Amino acid sequence: MRTSSQIPALPTLIVHGGAWAIPPEMADDHQRGVANALATGYAILKKGGTATDAVEAAVTVLEDDPTFDAGRGSFLTSEGRVQLDALLMDGATLRAGGVACVEHLRNPIQAARLVLDKSPHIYFVGRGAEAFAASHGMPLIENQELVLDRERIRLAEAQSRLARGLADITFSGALAEDDKSPETAVQSFLSHDTVGAVALDQFGNLAAGTSTGGTLNKAPGRVGDSSLIGCGCYADNHSAAVSLTGWGEPIMKLVLGKWATDRVAQGTSPELAAQQAIDYLFQRLGGHGGIILLGPDGRFGLAHNTPGMAWGIGNSDGLRTGLTV
Ligand code: ASP
Repeated sequence: MRTSSQIPALPTLIVHGGAWAIPPEMADDHQRGVANALATGYAILKKGGTATDAVEAAVTVLEDDPTFDAGRGSFLTSEGRVQLDALLMDGATLRAGGVACVEHLRNPIQAARLVLDKSPHIYFVGRGAEAFAASHGMPLIENQELVLDRERIRLAEAQSRLARGLADITFSGALAEDDKSPETAVQSFLSHDTVGAVALDQFGNLAAGTSTGGTLNKAPGRVGDSSLIGCGCYADNHSAAVSLTGWGEPIMKLVLGKWATDRVAQGTSPELAAQQAIDYLFQRLGGHGGIILLGPDGRFGLAHNTPGMAWGIGNSDGLRTGLTV
């Protein structure tokens, strides 16, 4: 866990690139990826841009980076396709835009932004989401443009494990939530590469965004926590902004993002609330993951119960990145 002890000057941006056992050979890519996203988003805040703009821009950089499980390079469904979910939320107005199960958009966070800005609705799925995005000028691409060979191999390995009766390491349903055995715990660290960002702008407004390809070998149509309001993402100027990553089903059951922001509204520091949220996730349901949490005064908390979490923070102390907190 990491936090600010004194209240820093605005603005602030925090990004994450997933929480899991990041292998040493992928460490540089993760560190570089969050640093690029941080630099892009923070430059917007420094120029007087809004928290929503900064979050959208930072998440776009992470979606474009094939290192992460968002946009191109995401995990594949059991049918070998990329299906993406994203949410963007503006803490000043509580306006939100979400898309899920989109297969033909390079940057789902930008589609989420269009929903936030231009629709009376909050959430679109599948073809309806793509049609909405296209009607506002977003290009529709072939799904194969989002698929990497690396992920085809990863899917084949996961499916072969299942065919041989080995333990499910994919978070697609076979792990028992009350199984806290060391073997399951280790396997649980293998893959959480969702991306997200939270920001506080010079006007004192918060925003949050989360984008994901979901879990490896997920059933087509499965939606996880990342794009669901209050689960993997939430922002309210009256409480905090949050983005989570990890095993989605337990996070959804606990509505964990809102759980954490409510704690901040009740007076708990973001530092403590972030740690409490991750502790609660494990103690209640055996879940694993990571959280970034930012209060309206610029205090923040980061926590994870996985071996690593790729993160970056920009505030009056400068720009920093790391792979554990
Ligand atoms: N939370 C995501 C999901 O369950 C996965 C992740 O964070 O990597 O869809």
